Amino acid sequence: MARPVRFEHNRWLGDKRSMVVHDLDATDDACAVPELLASEQFASFGPDQLAEARNRGYHACRRCARAATA
Ligand SMILES: [Zn+2]
Repeated sequence: MARPVRFEHNRWLGDKRSMVVHDLDATDDACAVPELLASEQFASFGPDQLAEARNRGYHACRRCARAATA
């Protein structure tokens, strides 16, 4: 799956609705990243790290971010 153009400089993409954060290096269709971007209920992080997402209350996506958390 291609990385969304508007997030080409970010790895971590948060969903404000579910408070889940996705790893754009590993997302699959089930992550529904295009739908998330269309909803505009997404968040980016600075620094662009899983730890920062967690500090802001996000949980790692079980599909794409699992490897990064193992
Ligand atoms: Zn995901």
